[in-house]
Amino acid sequence: MVVYANGNMRFTENQLRKDPVSGKPPRLYVDIQNAVIPQRLCDPITIEDGLLQRARVAQYDNTTVRLVLDIDSMNDHRIFTMENPSRLVIDVIGEQGQYAAAEAGEPVATAAEPLPLAQQFGLGVRRIVLDAGHGGKDPGAIGPNGLKEKDVTLALALRLKPLLEEKGYEVLMTRASDLYIELPERTAFANQNKADLFISIHTNASRSRKVRGVETYFLGVARSREASETAMLENAISQQALSDLEKILLDLTRTSNLKQSSILAESIQDSLYNGLRSSFSDIPNLGVKQAGFYVLIGAQMPAVLIETSFISNPSAEKLLARKDYRDTLASSILEGIVKYVSLLSSAYSGAP
Ligand SMILES: [Zn+2]
Repeated sequence: MVVYANGNMRFTENQLRKDPVSGKPPRLYVDIQNAVIPQRLCDPITIEDGLLQRARVAQYDNTTVRLVLDIDSMNDHRIFTMENPSRLVIDVIGEQGQYAAAEAGEPVATAAEPLPLAQQFGLGVRRIVLDAGHGGKDPGAIGPNGLKEKDVTLALALRLKPLLEEKGYEVLMTRASDLYIELPERTAFANQNKADLFISIHTNASRSRKVRGVETYFLGVARSREASETAMLENAISQQALSDLEKILLDLTRTSNLKQSSILAESIQDSLYNGLRSSFSDIPNLGVKQAGFYVLIGAQMPAVLIETSFISNPSAEKLLARKDYRDTLASSILEGIVKYVSLLSSAYSGAP
């Protein structure tokens, strides 16, 4: 559920148990401070998607707007603010990671059927979402000779797609052309399509044109200045939003997807480094890192972000424009994914 406002929002949240006396269901309420809402916007919104029954909103006192969600079977939730436009996002998660993302009261279809057994055990990677970073009005990083990150990421995703399809995977793309897509919409797309893996493709940039190398990220709290700078670059959000992000990130350690994401990241990084090293000399291996990438938050499947090379480095920029370099990047990422899947299968079947 997304609440829009025409200013920055501060909020507190609270949960109430089911009230057997009044018959009220369990509720989650959010108080938005220093806010007013016109009466005409206060009609209750019926949701009934299996997670939430309905949403009600009212002016609680002179300076507080209270949003109440009547809960059906919510298991977990996250609330955070975002800017441009200013909004409050409530992510509601049900049993077994069942995911509902309803925007402006329009419920998105969610499936109540349980996950197949193979998927519950992390097997049977079948559907992969490829996310070509940036696009449209957001060019991403731009190289010293004008090569745009958004064009490289799309070219790489379009190359990787048929390679994965040849291996029998179903591939969906968050964008297949020069389109602008908000970061949260990218993982929401993967969740709604029940993807098994989410792969976000980027090129890196540094203030120093000398910096080169390849690295792969999964979600977490950045442990180095470089990692946090890279996340800042990709997130394109303000410091305030970033501190909200940190709060969510600290909460994420219980997500089992993080372990799988780290294994996937290791496998892809390994293949990328070895693939590039064998065809192109002297590629620094920057390894697997964690940072607070907005685009990975909320993914209900293993999710990684690949920084394929530094577009800010003139020689890497030249390479990124070359067909053979792009081919090597795509085939190496493919190899990393395939290795990850076979690793999973052998881990669960007990084979060596
Ligand atoms: Zn990027």
